[in-house]
Amino acid sequence: MNIPPESLQSVFDGAFTGISQARASFVPNLTPHEVGTITNVSTGIARVSGLPGTGSEELLEFPGGVFGIAFNVDEDEIGVVLLGDYSRLQSGDEVKRTSRVMDVAVGNGLLGRVIDPLGRPLDENGPVATSDRLPIERPAAPIMDRAPVAVPLQTGLIAVDALIPIGRGQRELILGDRQTGKTSVAIDTIVNQRDRNVVCVYCAIGQRASAVAKAVANLRKENAMDYTVVVVAEGDDPPGLAYIAPYAATSIAEYFMGAGRDVLIVYDDLTHHARAYRELSLLLRRPPGREAFPGDIFFIHSRMLERATHLNKELGGGSLTALPIIETEAQDISAYIPTNLISITDGQIYLSPSLFELGVLPAVDVGKSVSRVGGKAQWAAYRAVAGDLKLAYAQFVELETFARFGARLDEATRKIIDHGQRMRACLKQPELSPISVPAQIAVLLALTAELFDRVALDQMVDAVRSVQKAAAAIPADVCARFESAPKLSNDDRDAIIAIARRALEPFEPKPNAAKKTEPATREEA
Ligand code: ATP
Ligand code: MG
Repeated sequence: MNIPPESLQSVFDGAFTGISQARASFVPNLTPHEVGTITNVSTGIARVSGLPGTGSEELLEFPGGVFGIAFNVDEDEIGVVLLGDYSRLQSGDEVKRTSRVMDVAVGNGLLGRVIDPLGRPLDENGPVATSDRLPIERPAAPIMDRAPVAVPLQTGLIAVDALIPIGRGQRELILGDRQTGKTSVAIDTIVNQRDRNVVCVYCAIGQRASAVAKAVANLRKENAMDYTVVVVAEGDDPPGLAYIAPYAATSIAEYFMGAGRDVLIVYDDLTHHARAYRELSLLLRRPPGREAFPGDIFFIHSRMLERATHLNKELGGGSLTALPIIETEAQDISAYIPTNLISITDGQIYLSPSLFELGVLPAVDVGKSVSRVGGKAQWAAYRAVAGDLKLAYAQFVELETFARFGARLDEATRKIIDHGQRMRACLKQPELSPISVPAQIAVLLALTAELFDRVALDQMVDAVRSVQKAAAAIPADVCARFESAPKLSNDDRDAIIAIARRALEPFEPKPNAAKKTEPATREEA
């Protein structure tokens, strides 16, 4: 084909103009990445060089979708805490900056789910549907945003609700040796929030998988998962995950609190959290302090627990109640981490292994337990009956120890001991069986009216159960007044005592039966 040179020239000119125009209008769409390299990887830690602009706590991305948090930011090297499987990482691998801090997905879609601290599902219900994200580290609410603790958080455990009351927005430590029922107290409290419009977050840190499975199974069995989120960092996860778990769980809880809900969060347990942080700090070569914990161990726990609060009305009036758990060794509550946590929180529930061995369950040691703010939030009906209970119980425990030496007891002492033994029986409670408020009040009133003193000790379990059942007969208006009335009126008190007295009639000693003398001490028993 013969093409005249002039038309070829015009084709070239046209193409050239097109290319020039395209070039002029081209805007390069490049995202610059700052890339560094791994110099060293060890247990849960990586050292990275070549990222001079990295900020403290910035998220860094490693190959294989593993993320890490920049912890030690030095001039020429960064110590990074790894949050995923680091077995494939090696020196020389590329590391990217992300210019953001660690955050977690939050929202209603998390209710009923079991997730890891990064928000990935651990149950079989598919991906988690959430819309919002919150940073895991957030400043605690300032003082002016807070309201006083005024509403009680019912645990359903009579020993706690009567003697160591917890308020919504309070931080109450649960501590005790291993296997003393710490988790059970927390799970019972979550179970008791059914139909009370409280969202619960259970954060398991560094526990055995079987213990977590049992807790989740109990929550499922009691239909408590509908309003609960479970965040799990297992014992064999990298220490970085255990470290961020409670912060992520707190952010998840804060989302609900911000929406005006009442939230309960359980950290089970912070001993493992402290150990994970110690491990990371030692690997990062931070200077060790007492018990080899780093100097800021108090700060990391107080920073987290300060986030529990009761917000004022303008901010929606939501609350976040925290139940951190701590494991003590050989009943030493003055060890480093327990004393730290005791001083951070607003009270503690101490579970004693000796009571556990005696079968006094829940093994709450009333003498060593205290609630510093909950008493103000306790309903007046409780205050009327539980006022002297703690003192009387303490007196009984002291006399009981004394009576063990086989001393001959005068009538008054024997009476205190007999009454104390019945008091202890009233406070006993099996797992996963929360007691309603009217049932608790009925038992406590019957106790203060000394109705149980005529019941034989071996029949106390049935007698207490009978009073609890009879409490269903308390009229609804009387029950409503437990919450609202400033004082338990004498009429209400008499009505409830009459109901309890009727329930205890079958347990009255038979008039003709030979009076059986009861042993005054356990040793004699
Ligand atoms: P760990 O130190 O292993 O975390 P823990 O202090 O959390 O233990 P739990 O696991 O709650 O203790 O309870 C220990 C055992 O005591 C469990 O087998 C539990 O079923 C039992 N238990 C706890 N509370 C009660 C109770 N009120 N009545 C009967 N059994 C109970
Ligand atoms: Mg436990």
